[in-house]
Amino acid sequence: MDLFEYQGKQYFSRFGIAVSPGDVADTVEQAVAVAERVGYPVVIKAQVKVGGRGKAGGVKLADNIDDVRLHAGNILGLDIKGHVVHRVWVERSSDIAKEYYASFTLDRQNKTHLGMLSAQGGVEIEVVAEENPDAIAFLQIDPVRGLDLATARRWVAEAELDEVAREQAAEMLVKLYDCYTTGDCDLAEINPLILTPDNKVHALDAKVTLDENASFRHPEWEEFRATETEDPREKMAKEKGLNYIGLEGTVGIIANGAGLAMSTLDVVNQVGGTAANFLDIGGGANADVMASAMEVINSDPKVRVIFVNIFGGITRVDEVAKGVLEALKRVSITSPIVLRLDGTNAIEGRAILAPHLNDNLITEPTMLDAARRAVDIANA
Ligand code: GDP
Ligand code: MN
Repeated sequence: MDLFEYQGKQYFSRFGIAVSPGDVADTVEQAVAVAERVGYPVVIKAQVKVGGRGKAGGVKLADNIDDVRLHAGNILGLDIKGHVVHRVWVERSSDIAKEYYASFTLDRQNKTHLGMLSAQGGVEIEVVAEENPDAIAFLQIDPVRGLDLATARRWVAEAELDEVAREQAAEMLVKLYDCYTTGDCDLAEINPLILTPDNKVHALDAKVTLDENASFRHPEWEEFRATETEDPREKMAKEKGLNYIGLEGTVGIIANGAGLAMSTLDVVNQVGGTAANFLDIGGGANADVMASAMEVINSDPKVRVIFVNIFGGITRVDEVAKGVLEALKRVSITSPIVLRLDGTNAIEGRAILAPHLNDNLITEPTMLDAARRAVDIANA
């Protein structure tokens, strides 16, 4: 679960990480009230779960009440990369001498935690990685040993943070690591981590992703969940009990088994298409499940074709074929359907579908053929 910046900052505070005083506002008048309370100058920041708000006009400094009215008025309702701003964070503005970057995330390949630290913050870290990879100091951290202050001190020196910032930054990194581990984050990122002209180090931004697998030991995450705006497709899928993850492409995918579903995504990619979703209907590919799956995929306006990829094991393909026909009676589907049916009782299954095949209900003998056919339709 991704947090809004203000929630990330609240979370940081619990671990002793310094952030600026501020509060959220949903209206211009609330923004004014917060500004008057924290004192000018303030910075007004769009609360959307997407980066690059600064460039998009979602971060503005305000010296007085008129500025607050102007900027809060402009930012509230602003569309930033498809995310409409309903709430702003107003905090006391900081003077900035330097902008650094710091984050912790998981290094799956090395089975360690990965710290990234750079004296070149404020810009997207992907850009730094591209243009000046040596400017990032990577630190692999054994999860059993953790991160101690001595290591953090060596790390800030290696990253060439300004001398005056190093001790405070090292201490903050230890706290950020604590937040990342004890706080069960998948990502804890500060960009920029700033040095002020009077030599104070603190977090100006917060990007936190919580690890949902740990939610059982964090009842306090409930407040974060309350503000989550769920993908409507995922919400619908959850209500129907489906294992669905929404993606951005045009080929809707239904497969049985998580492994086959992932392979299906790969094959669609391989032949030049893009998947609209991951959907594993598991072993229970009966009419109910099939109808639910098609309904969810059909609700996605980007979908141009549905690729049903079934390999019958315990699931019998003749049952799946009946399920598909039954589902088509219940749901009116707007996209053509391409099926690849193989495995247990595949011949019987194909025979059941044979009389119903047309331009909108197509079978192909192999997974690759079916993927090609589906992608041809999607890209037509
Ligand atoms: P992002 O663009 O979504 O990552 O939003 P950030 O919170 O990182 O803000 C973007 C940029 O706005 C920062 O890199 C700073 O340069 C600037 N900024 C943010 N807060 C302040 C502040 O308190 N004072 C000043 N002077 N600049 C700020
Ligand atoms: Mn930022």
